[in-house]
Parts: sequence; C-alpha cells; structure tokens
Amino acid sequence: PVVTRFAPSPTGFLHIGGARTALFNWLYARHTGGKMLLRIEDTDRKRSTDEATKAIIEGMSWLGLDWDGEPVSQHSRAERHREVALEMVERGEAYYCYASQEELEAMREKARAEGRPPRYDGTWRDRDPSEAPEGVKPVIRIKAPKEGETVIHDKVQGEVRFPNKDLDDFIVLRSDASPTYMHAVVVDDHDMGVTHIIRGDDHLTNAARQTLIYKAMGWDVPVMAHIPLIHGADGAKLSKRHGALGVEAYRAMGYLPEALCNYLARLGWSHGDDEVMTIAQMVEWFEIEDVNKGAARFDFKKLEAINGIHMRNSTDERLFDLFMKQLPYLEGGAEIVQNMPDGQRAQIRQAIPGLKERAKTLVELLDGAGFIFAERPLVFEEKAAGLLTDDARAVLATLHADLSALADWTLESTEAAVRACAEKSEVKLGKVAQPLRAALTGRTTSPGIFDVLIVLGREESLARIKDQLA
Ligand code: GLU
Repeated sequence: PVVTRFAPSPTGFLHIGGARTALFNWLYARHTGGKMLLRIEDTDRKRSTDEATKAIIEGMSWLGLDWDGEPVSQHSRAERHREVALEMVERGEAYYCYASQEELEAMREKARAEGRPPRYDGTWRDRDPSEAPEGVKPVIRIKAPKEGETVIHDKVQGEVRFPNKDLDDFIVLRSDASPTYMHAVVVDDHDMGVTHIIRGDDHLTNAARQTLIYKAMGWDVPVMAHIPLIHGADGAKLSKRHGALGVEAYRAMGYLPEALCNYLARLGWSHGDDEVMTIAQMVEWFEIEDVNKGAARFDFKKLEAINGIHMRNSTDERLFDLFMKQLPYLEGGAEIVQNMPDGQRAQIRQAIPGLKERAKTLVELLDGAGFIFAERPLVFEEKAAGLLTDDARAVLATLHADLSALADWTLESTEAAVRACAEKSEVKLGKVAQPLRAALTGRTTSPGIFDVLIVLGREESLARIKDQLA
C-alpha cells in the first residue's frame, strides 16, 4: 500500500507551496487508499519553533488535509539517526573524518583557486583512524562512489542523472552526533515505511545524495516525484506580492478551503479541461503522472474566480456554516463576532442566498452583509446620500405609511406595497426602490431590496426609513 508523507520544517507558517505539496501527498494517499504521514522536521533546533508547528497543523486542518497516526518529530529520532550512521561505518559505507576547520578551509581555497566547486577531498576516506589527532571529535561521512552516475527515476521529472563526482563524501553525522538533514530524511522515510516521496523540485539534488544513503544501507529507494515550484504570474520566483503567503492569509482573504485546494491542485496538475472540482473529484482523479513538468504560475484572478464558483455551488447551509466559522479571521470580523446581538445569526442565515450571488470571497460576502451589522443612524456612501432628494423623501414618506399598515411582513406583501406606492406616486419602480435601498443600507448596491426588507424585519426597516424623513 502507498505511504506518502508531508515533511515540513517548522520555521514559519504553512506557505502556499508547502500547502500544495501537502495537498498532492494527501490526494495521492487518499486516491490509492493508502496513508499520508506527517513528519515535523525540527532537527534544526535554532530555527524550529512550536508556533510554526502549530501554524502548519492549523493550516492543514483548515484545508481539510488530515494525516494518519501521530505527527512524528524528527528531532526525537536523533538516536536512531546516529545508530544508522554508525551502522554505515560498520558496513564500510561511511567513515570518520577528523579534518579540522583549517584543513577544510584550505580545501575550499584550493578548489576555488582551481575553479572547481568546493568539495571534500576524501582525505580521511582511506586513512587509518589511529592517525586521528587527539581531542578532535570526528564527523561521519558517506563513502560516495567516485565514478559513474546516480540516476533518479522521477515520476514527474523523468530520468535525472547526476555524475557521482559531483556528489562528494558529504557528512551524515556531525561531530556533536546530530544528523544532517540529508541523513535524517532518509532514515525517517525508511523507518516510516514511506513508499512515495512527493515534494518540491528544489529537493532534486538532495534526492541524488539521499539515494546514496539508501544504497549504502541496502534499502529500497521510494518512488520519487519532484513537483515544479510555483512562480508568480509574471514567471518570476514567487514572492509575497505574488501570493507567497501563509495559508492563514488566504483564510483572512475569504477563500473557501475547498476552493484553495482546487486552485492549488490545478497549479501543476490537470485532469482534462476540468477547472472546478470538488474534493471528492480531485481524490478520484489525482494521478502523479498528470503533474506537469513546467513551473506553475500563481494567479489571484483565477483563484478568485474559482472561489466564486465554489461559493455559488455551496448549499446555503454550508456557506453559512463556513462564513460563521471564518468570520473571526476576516478583516473586521472579530469585532462583529464579539458584538453580535441575539438574532443576528438568523439574519445572516436568511441573507445568504441573496449575498452569495454577488460575492467571490467571504470578505465580499461580509461586505455585502454590512447592512445587517450597520447601526442607526446609518453612515451613507456619498452616492447613496445623493439619492435622497426632497422628491425621494416624499415618496419614502408615503411608502413608510404604506409599509406600516401592512398586516404581515413578507416578500410578497412588501413587494406589493412598494409597487403600489410607485404607481400611486406616478414614478417608476426604481424611483422608490433606489432611495429605499439607500435608506435601508446606506449604499447603492445590496441584495434584492425585498430580501433586505425581510432580513432587517419590520421594526428596523421602518426605523431606518423614518430616519430619512425628517
Ligand atoms: N523539510 C523539507 C522542507 O521543508 C522537506 C523535506 C522533504 O520533503 O524531503 O522543505
């Protein structure tokens, strides 16, 4: 069975590239009925933080990317990493190196002078450890092959060849007995039974070095798939301006988790011409073979369009639930949640059908719902204030009387009253509806005006109209 893993380094938030890597691993595991494991690569103690681990886990949870079993802390496995390094020495596949800092520096100097990339020259590879200088704590280096090549059979990149002379005797265990990143990843992937490594193609050269460790231990090399990095819309490396933000920033911008997953999946993977997909469809259709080799370009416009479609495809109930869940994370949303009077949830729920047609993000939805949260006396947009001329106020006075007289307050009864008022006043419907909208919302755009009347209810609607009559 397939076992994938997501192996983030907890040095910052879950950025969009990491989220896509997690998503591909998750999709493939769910598609094949296998497992996805989560490994927190916290070996670098100085740069790893608990907050980052929390942010990563929160980001994945929000996206709905669950993992199997407990997250594994790489740091907690240091003893095992050491054990494997020692076994490599025993097998004659690695050796102790006592080179001092000065010697290493001299090697680098020499390489630079000769125009070669700096590589360890193998001084201690065949030397007898009895010659070791006193008091020097050795590192352990792998005995890398000097000739031939190491070939990666990559599911995305195809066959990638690395001349072995470029892969020097790199360190697997430092002098303080801590593993290098290269080594820890291999030992963990092996021990965790990982069958498929799906990650960014910035790890491709690491894959060659890691292959040497697998071979040294006589372990099977997992299937590898190195996915192209995400670039900005202009083709340049992804920067903040392009969208290289943490997942929580996308939550704050009002994207639905399933829409972000859909968009991220389409960044580098395709299924025919399908653009908009449910999570279930992505799980059903995802194949590593369909991941593109070329760099994907991040495009906010497309994300927004996909998000809008997901919003409209959502049932009102689900959209309401999502909106209420995400409200605290949207700009200005936290205060609204704190001050929410009784009954406002019900008003929002009622407004959802009218709001969702007009919003591409939950932020836009929140903006559209502004009339619900507004307090009297309303603050007016300039254009809306301009609609409230003397003539318009006169019509609103008639309308106020008509609406006050209604026995029941329904879509049908309020609409009939507004139409009758226009006829009686000998004006077009718009001449009533527009000032009414301004009076009720302070704006020139809103959901359907009868929806607004119903959501606000009789008392609040009449009060807002009356405010404009004096
Ligand atoms: N920890 C690495 C990173 O965050 C990923 C290592 C791997 O996937 O092998 O980039």
